[in-house]
Amino acid sequence: MCKSKNLSIFRFFLLPAVCCLLVTVLTGCATISTRSAIPAYSIKGTTYYPLVSLCDLCGVEIRYDTLIHTAYLNKDGKRVNLRVGDAMVLVNDSVMQLNAPIDIYQGTLVVPRQFKEQIFDILFPQLVSTQGRPARQKIKLSKVVIDAGHGGNDPGAIGKNGLREKDVNLDIARRLNDLLRAEGVRTVLTRSTDKFIPLPTRVNIANKSEADLFISIHANANRSRALSGFEVYYVAPSISDSKRAAMTAKSVSLHLKSASFSNNSQTLQAIIWDMIYTNSRAESIGLAKALCNVMDSWIDANILGIKSARFHVLKGIRMPGVLVEVGFVSNLNEEKLLRSGAYRQKLAEGILEGLRDYSQDMALVEVSGK
Ligand SMILES: [Zn+2]
Repeated sequence: MCKSKNLSIFRFFLLPAVCCLLVTVLTGCATISTRSAIPAYSIKGTTYYPLVSLCDLCGVEIRYDTLIHTAYLNKDGKRVNLRVGDAMVLVNDSVMQLNAPIDIYQGTLVVPRQFKEQIFDILFPQLVSTQGRPARQKIKLSKVVIDAGHGGNDPGAIGKNGLREKDVNLDIARRLNDLLRAEGVRTVLTRSTDKFIPLPTRVNIANKSEADLFISIHANANRSRALSGFEVYYVAPSISDSKRAAMTAKSVSLHLKSASFSNNSQTLQAIIWDMIYTNSRAESIGLAKALCNVMDSWIDANILGIKSARFHVLKGIRMPGVLVEVGFVSNLNEEKLLRSGAYRQKLAEGILEGLRDYSQDMALVEVSGK
């Protein structure tokens, strides 16, 4: 039913980090959205919808200015400008006041129900198309960094029957490495042996590689042995970023024009960095979703979904990145499964399938991010 897929350039994350044991204290658990319906979120009693999904559904072009945290919607000459943290929006040059502000939730720009029903739905009716979705252009994934978590004197989580997370991670990383190479994809492993590699070194390896994406492989643990399943973390929206957005929203006038770029190289650098991170965030979410979607039918395990992380594993990595938690070594059944080479091979193959899906989605991001 959707005509075009203008993907976001603007999903904000926080910089993630890797420590499986911290997983239980992380906030921000997202369920995977269904493929056609628009997900809804309740924030402080108000229902919100992800703006990008609405735009996708209705073929509305969307741009995002990372400097002033403002989104510009446009279709057939109809325009809406809205800014994060602000309850006022510009609709074809008229100011309209909402009862709740534009917000960012789990890395995605979200709009209150009132905006959807009283402005968006009226201005941009949903497309009723008899055509299928536009053909997806596959993008070549030429290089991937595979990061096996922990190693050496850092065993990671340890199962009741002694299975060590670091060994599971390394084995799956190697299997994925073989699979990707067989597909002609170049790979970089942050470690290929049982060796301790500090996080900053992992980040350096990744950034020097100039790869297209980064995958960190981990296994989970929880005090509750009943907990089991597969989940993927992507970089979460940082509090500082939200605060910055809110402050910007207050200080910048509502008269919205494209930000003028100064010649000051520091300013320019900041903008460029902002764009790099923002783009990577959108792609990381896409990758996380693709992995969960594939695994849902690939393995007989709970799919716990995609989650935003507030920890510091992928911090500083200048490419789309996710942290995959393949299962819980603290769960007796999953510890047994993860001990099996056949199951680890299946997980590696599932990740490969997710990457295939992702490489299709990535092309869409590139098209809209022109
Ligand atoms: Zn771990």
